[in-house]
Amino acid sequence: MWIDSHCHLDSREFDADRDEVVALSRAAGVEAIINLPGHIDHFAQAKATRERYGCLTGYGIHPMWVAGPNASSKREDIATLRSWVEREKPDLIGEIGLDFFIPDFDQSEQEWFFSEQLKIARDFDLPVSLHVRRSQDHILKHLRRIKVRGGFAHAFNGSAQQAAEFVKLGFCLGFGGTATFPQAHRVRALLRDVPLENVAVETDAPDIPPSFLGTMGSGQRNSPAYLPRIGELLAEVREISASSFAAATTANVRRMLRAG
Ligand SMILES: [Zn+2]
Repeated sequence: MWIDSHCHLDSREFDADRDEVVALSRAAGVEAIINLPGHIDHFAQAKATRERYGCLTGYGIHPMWVAGPNASSKREDIATLRSWVEREKPDLIGEIGLDFFIPDFDQSEQEWFFSEQLKIARDFDLPVSLHVRRSQDHILKHLRRIKVRGGFAHAFNGSAQQAAEFVKLGFCLGFGGTATFPQAHRVRALLRDVPLENVAVETDAPDIPPSFLGTMGSGQRNSPAYLPRIGELLAEVREISASSFAAATTANVRRMLRAG
């Protein structure tokens, strides 16, 4: 059985067939999905999704809503997040992080939101789901300053040295669709070399379609139901059986969330 450690099940791409997607995922061997809404306007929907499907759930404000062309988060949203966390007791805080790739990013504003959300994770003793894009060293700097109890560095794409630093801080590195492409040499080398106790699998659905949906960046809708097929391809990269890889990565997520 597999756990999708990073998914956006509330995305409108799933509005037409969300029940079916979840049913297909279960039938394919996905025992749990971590759902991450990413904007306070989507928290209510995520709460409903949690109740309906029993998703693991993270509340947090994604950096793309903090800076760049779609910025619509306000500093007051941090207080709203804190009260949601207090009331709803989510499984983690996320998706939070720094994105120095989005156009016209406001670095100091992103860092403010990120550090405030790390403090919430620390205060409620929750793991975090991290969005790390061209910002590995900045993220590490904040993690060393505000100690949280680990979590996931989603769609990890840093250097081997940066990977080792995340591992030292107790994080799992998330691998998914990108690593299914044979030409993704660097990410596949990381997947091969990271300690197995620090590997999580993820879809980031509806984003990051795997190789069997077409060419890289094809725009095809990814789905948590594809996680077992993605996991099989990643297990090949690690040269272990799919069942051992599923068992190990599932145990890693459960340990990180202290859930059974
Ligand atoms: Zn995501």
